[in-house]
Amino acid sequence: MALRDKFITTGGEKNSVLLCSSTHHLLEAKHHLSSSGVEIELVPAPSGIGSACTTAIRFVRAKEDLVRKLLEDSSIEWTGIYPIEKKDRIDTWDGLWQLNLGSEFERILQKVAQDQVLSKEEIIILLQAQRSDELTALFKAASKIRAEMLGATVDLRAAIEFSNYCIKGCNYCGLRSKQQINRYRMSKQEIISAVAEINQLGIETVILQSGEDPWYTTDKIIEIIQEIKDKFGMKITLSLGERSKQEYKKFKEAGADNYLLKLEAANRKLFKQLHPDDQFKVRREHTKWLKELGYITGSGNIVGLPGQKIEDLAADILFYKEYGIHMIGIGPFLPAKGTPYQNHPPGDLLLSLKTIAVTRLVCQNVYIPSTTALASLAEDGLTRGLEVGANVIMLIMTPTILREKYQIYSGKNMVGLKTAISSIKKAGREVPGYIKQGI
Ligand code: SF4
Repeated sequence: MALRDKFITTGGEKNSVLLCSSTHHLLEAKHHLSSSGVEIELVPAPSGIGSACTTAIRFVRAKEDLVRKLLEDSSIEWTGIYPIEKKDRIDTWDGLWQLNLGSEFERILQKVAQDQVLSKEEIIILLQAQRSDELTALFKAASKIRAEMLGATVDLRAAIEFSNYCIKGCNYCGLRSKQQINRYRMSKQEIISAVAEINQLGIETVILQSGEDPWYTTDKIIEIIQEIKDKFGMKITLSLGERSKQEYKKFKEAGADNYLLKLEAANRKLFKQLHPDDQFKVRREHTKWLKELGYITGSGNIVGLPGQKIEDLAADILFYKEYGIHMIGIGPFLPAKGTPYQNHPPGDLLLSLKTIAVTRLVCQNVYIPSTTALASLAEDGLTRGLEVGANVIMLIMTPTILREKYQIYSGKNMVGLKTAISSIKKAGREVPGYIKQGI
């Protein structure tokens, strides 16, 4: 009997979840418990237990003494073990079961409704949905989980792309070091002025994004973080590429809240093909460090990359769950002029929407943006992303004279507040109360 089925058929058997102090300890616990014969599942931490977006380990409650002993013997740090009740949403999702679904497809959605863990094969089946009723059911289920976990409000965040210099050569990227483009760097004063504009709108989180640009030393970044915190008290997301563990630590101590470091591909071979200058192992290690240092972590992938298979997208989704990623950016591939992939066709809108929806079903209590890439591929891309499980929009607030120079892909839609609000309304969702719309 497969592991997942044992959990389904436990009848009266009760389950518990284990929360660990960091992703490192979670993965260690997963390894030790399963190699000692304890049946476990990685699940999103149930709401009310731990902080949002945490991954937990679910096990049969009768094994609790054994689990505690194994954790102690292997010096694993955990924060708690909690009894849980699985949800059963079958009755409240009854509209879905009236649709014309294949029996396998329906069985998988019913597993989600009953809080059961999906296997990689089942994730692939959802990603392969083509029939109209199955797509409707998939998107409705994702919307229901989003509403249950995060409500109707769409969170708005704003990005300042403060440098388009980059020392790396990612094959899909219009900013790669070999590109012949006009490069710019914003001064601290220019960055602070742009943050002031964002703050005026009522937005609470600023994303400081750049290529991998060592010109911005640790001290320079710390000064920027401290000034933003002192003047505006806003939450800060850093998206600077790979830095040392020491630097991540110093940025956190200076006041950074979130760190966005995208993996782009959880398949090692595909990762290497995209990132000739990066190491798959290193990127995953950095993701763990960021969690350990207390960052709210962001990652993401691109749908429709050269050589990408549907199994790769399933692996991406499982990576997010395993590493407890909080913010998951999923966008279609869009070719950038002058790059090795410039002639590869854009990613498919429907597959991108399905990837968002399945990520919502698997990871549940996470932030998923309706991305700029979706808005660049289709006029109604933002609304459609919101309709299938997304709950965040990121505005581009780089000064107007610079933003055209920051194009990881060509033809980028510079999503602004007006577009975001209109997309939110079209999707029947709510603009956050902190936005000062009269401005
Ligand atoms: S994806 Fe990021 S690290 Fe890679 S080339 Fe582009 S800006 Fe540089």
